[in-house]
Amino acid sequence: MALSQARKELGFLLSKPIRRILEIIVAVVLVLAIGIGVQAASEPRNLYWGCRGDDVSALQSQLNSLNFNCGNIDGIFGPKTHAAVLALQKSCGIAVDGIVGPQTRNAIAGLLAKSSPPTLYQGCRGDEVAELQKKLKAAGFNCGPVDGIFGPRTKAAVIALQQACGIKVDGIAGPQTWEALSKPIPTASAKPETPSRGSSVPRYTKVMTMVATAYCPCNQCNYPYGGKPSYIGLPLGHGIVAVDPNVIPLGTRLYIEGYGEAIAADTGGAIKGNRIDLCFSDHQSALKFGIQNVKVYVLP
Ligand SMILES: [Zn+2]
Repeated sequence: MALSQARKELGFLLSKPIRRILEIIVAVVLVLAIGIGVQAASEPRNLYWGCRGDDVSALQSQLNSLNFNCGNIDGIFGPKTHAAVLALQKSCGIAVDGIVGPQTRNAIAGLLAKSSPPTLYQGCRGDEVAELQKKLKAAGFNCGPVDGIFGPRTKAAVIALQQACGIKVDGIAGPQTWEALSKPIPTASAKPETPSRGSSVPRYTKVMTMVATAYCPCNQCNYPYGGKPSYIGLPLGHGIVAVDPNVIPLGTRLYIEGYGEAIAADTGGAIKGNRIDLCFSDHQSALKFGIQNVKVYVLP
């Protein structure tokens, strides 16, 4: 019969040349998949609920600047950031999945291009970074050569600028930082931070000598919870200190010799008894502080 003949031929075809062709197709697909994998590694990673890091901080800063409010820029992709991403995706008419992948990044880039200067952070490259570096240098903040590469020195310069201007210190050049760069920079004497030893101590109710260590919001200092907010929910930064709540109740306002005013807002596994852990805005300052005996004044 013709039908059984056709089946036989089909079986024959599948058994030999088609199998060979299928093998070739599989090989080609594998090679392509590996190629795409390599390409994906150089692309920014997808961000979604639970992600943490500088790229999350940058995303939050972008969302806030586009009026998709995600609250504090804390580097933690939590419910507020998720909600802001959903709102942005909805308003752009793209897939509403709460995941910041290529499509959402493009949508954000499009909106930002229309609305504001770029948000730059460590790892960014390009003419916009070079422009930032030129402005930092002109304002007296040494960021190394103007090479269009946002590295640790550019980040340190951005942090120094943010500290000098009293704006949020996150090392990310967002709208606030660009605005600060467009205005005269306050002189160092106007800085409220780090009064020297022997400077006037505010009225206090109690003074203790404590062993102070230092940390910053980075991953290294907070492994594995890099950039977590403090125990009582305030964002980590200068002025946030970790204490033993049995010695200093959380929420207590303090003045710390060599550091300045602070709030007991955090705890730490090793922070017991007369230990205190001072948060600095960047890792370098924390390293520089090291371990010191300090006088801790409890403010009324
Ligand atoms: Zn650190």
